[in-house]
Amino acid sequence: MRAELVSVGTELLLGEITDTNATYISQQLADIGVDVYFRHTVGDNLGRIVQVLQGAMRRCDVIIICGGLGPTQDDLTREAVAEVTGRPLQRVPAAEQRVREFFAQRRRVPSESNLKQCMVPKGGRLLDNNCGTAPGLLVEHNDTVLIAVPGPPPEMRTMLDSDVLPYLRDHVAAAEGGVLFTRTLRLSDIGESTVADELADIISQQTDPTIALYASPAEVRIRLATKATDEAAAYQRLSKVEEQIRARLGSHIYGVDDETMPVAVGNALREAGKTLAIAESCTGGLIASRITDIPGASDYFLAGYVVYSNAAKTRLLGVSEEVIAQYGAVSEECAKAMAEGARRDSGADYALATTGIAGPTGGTPEKPVGTIFIAVADDKGTICEHFCWPGEREQFKARVAQMALNVLRKRIVGE
Ligand code: ATP
Ligand code: MG
Repeated sequence: MRAELVSVGTELLLGEITDTNATYISQQLADIGVDVYFRHTVGDNLGRIVQVLQGAMRRCDVIIICGGLGPTQDDLTREAVAEVTGRPLQRVPAAEQRVREFFAQRRRVPSESNLKQCMVPKGGRLLDNNCGTAPGLLVEHNDTVLIAVPGPPPEMRTMLDSDVLPYLRDHVAAAEGGVLFTRTLRLSDIGESTVADELADIISQQTDPTIALYASPAEVRIRLATKATDEAAAYQRLSKVEEQIRARLGSHIYGVDDETMPVAVGNALREAGKTLAIAESCTGGLIASRITDIPGASDYFLAGYVVYSNAAKTRLLGVSEEVIAQYGAVSEECAKAMAEGARRDSGADYALATTGIAGPTGGTPEKPVGTIFIAVADDKGTICEHFCWPGEREQFKARVAQMALNVLRKRIVGE
């Protein structure tokens, strides 16, 4: 099944906001085996939205439109869908009732433009919005399904997960005799090309499940996918290939599916009943941010220290001035002292520390841009690993965060 995504909003075209919705929708469609062939971004202009939709309707089975469903003048998605399908907008009394109640609870009366949101192109239906007022739209028109979801990301995600994806799953199952089942294996301490070489024969012989490789900073993912009507049969097929891959690369696989590195670290800490503190220089709090992205992180995460200056390293973590003077702030000695200081100050079982040179300036011949020291302190002592990854600042930080969590994870699970 072929899909096209249309993101509506002039602020997207101006670069004022980033189209994170399209990324999310693409990922979710890939997971259920809907192929996204094109993605469009169009401003709040009726003529141009119509133009994009007309083109998409000629090419694909499903169009997902995101944004422009609100009550204001520049919210034109509803009108555009009505126009391209030639279906006049009609009021849905039940939806109108819900909007009136929503406003009554807030002691207000809805305006005409609020009630505009309860209109649907003839023959289509509204999708409930459980976290806002703008309902979504779903119109089956000739060979194409047009679906519109709201722009605010939480509303979009909720509607996609609760209504749109289940609908599309059924649609795919009916059209293609099965839905897609996937399993993602997450690997660390190995590069994409090495994975490709190690699995070359398996990948070239394998047609079902398919195997695809993806790389992101300090991580490689192997995605196995198979189409099936029967869930048990699908998982059996996936497991068979997974076993083959594990036989070769098992020591690199740290997580499966949604078990990202921060999740894996959290699980390891929780299982061990241990706590964590983090001292960061060059990553500026990014590692603590990754850790706290995970619900329930308060079970194990005690404290984060962003110690950018030498003085802060000394004052907050007790890194001695002599260590910094003798070895420099970017050194094994300093990283270890930071980890030990964070552990002492917070009372955590484990402390992770990073210090490095993100660049673009500040490198020396002995310590070039990209130099990074990662230390972990625990009751057995303090270890430190040293790498050099020159690169763009943001990517450097992302890579260090991922890698530092991996160093910590291995220490916790005893790898
Ligand atoms: P509303 O009822 O809030 O007007 P809407 O469906 O009309 O919802 P828009 O007006 O297009 O949606 O966007 C509302 C807000 O949602 C934007 O200001 C922006 O913050 C966010 N948003 C919209 N589209 C996207 C997108 N593609 N990616 C990320 N955020 C988005
Ligand atoms: Mg709007």
